[in-house]
Amino acid sequence: MQFNHDNMSGVRVAEALVNMLDGGAGDAGALGDLLAGHLFHNPEVGAAEEALLRDWTTRLRTVFESDSEEDRCATVNALLEQGVKRVFLTAHDGLGPHLHFAETCDSLVERVRALTAGGLAIFVTEAAGGRLGTCARDGCRKVFADTSRGGRRAYCSARCGNADAVMRYRKRGRPAGSR
Ligand SMILES: [Zn+2]
Ligand SMILES: [Zn+2]
Repeated sequence: MQFNHDNMSGVRVAEALVNMLDGGAGDAGALGDLLAGHLFHNPEVGAAEEALLRDWTTRLRTVFESDSEEDRCATVNALLEQGVKRVFLTAHDGLGPHLHFAETCDSLVERVRALTAGGLAIFVTEAAGGRLGTCARDGCRKVFADTSRGGRRAYCSARCGNADAVMRYRKRGRPAGSR
């Protein structure tokens, strides 16, 4: 499966927002930095933008948590409905033709909504409904978009995967019946 930079940027921003803002974490400054890091123009986040983006991020999480293809399509459609007003092709900065879901004159919140909704829709199409998920380690709420070759990723990071492997090993190592 091939993903070019622009097709993946919406998914990457969605993943980063969900992982940053979970459970009240993050703040307006960190949010602005995150968006600047993903090349958003004028990524100025005040209290109003922060509140709107937190709400939106709660909805982004539902796409990663969807446990069936049908559910995933429904959660993405709900985002598209609110987040994307128009779609058009453009080629700029030496990039080939790719989809844009918002205009540069739209507000920051509108641009974030449009890019993440549109990017998730493209990803779900390319990934045939799969490859989005939540970390398999108990207690970790991070989400991920799986672009690995096999598409069997279960953890948000190698660190969580290793921690879980160690725990499983310890459980297995215990003699039966002991505590
Ligand atoms: Zn572009
Ligand atoms: Zn994790």
